[in-house]
Amino acid sequence: MDLINEIGKKTSHVCYVTVDKTSKIAKEAKQKMKMAGYKSQIEDLYEEIGKKVYENHIREEKQNIYELTLEECIEIDKLASQIEEIRKKILALREKKQCPHCFLEIASSYRFCPNCGTLQQEETENNTPISIPQKEEQTNLEQE
Ligand SMILES: [Zn+2]
Repeated sequence: MDLINEIGKKTSHVCYVTVDKTSKIAKEAKQKMKMAGYKSQIEDLYEEIGKKVYENHIREEKQNIYELTLEECIEIDKLASQIEEIRKKILALREKKQCPHCFLEIASSYRFCPNCGTLQQEETENNTPISIPQKEEQTNLEQE
């Protein structure tokens, strides 16, 4: 009887670990899809800017290119910072962060970069272990 109980315990433990790992992979895939979406939006904006620049070229009365394309450029800025956020989220899912000085990917727990020795900033948000605040994380994903 004891042996059977032990096997039961072990099996459920293995299952738990697998599910946790799978959900992280799934979350990473979801983030990557989001990132691809933003990247294609940036491509569309580039195209729009190119069109405006060309239309301005053939127009008799030239307009200020800066003003003409400002809206699109601001939109690209926003998308680029969203992509940066996603990149950080993906690193956090892998329990890693990037050294702000040499850009090496290091474990989130490191206080100093093993490559350049830079003191890593205490980012309370990123330092929170990913596996514990399951509920919080999911609400965050719903909001976005
Ligand atoms: Zn470094």
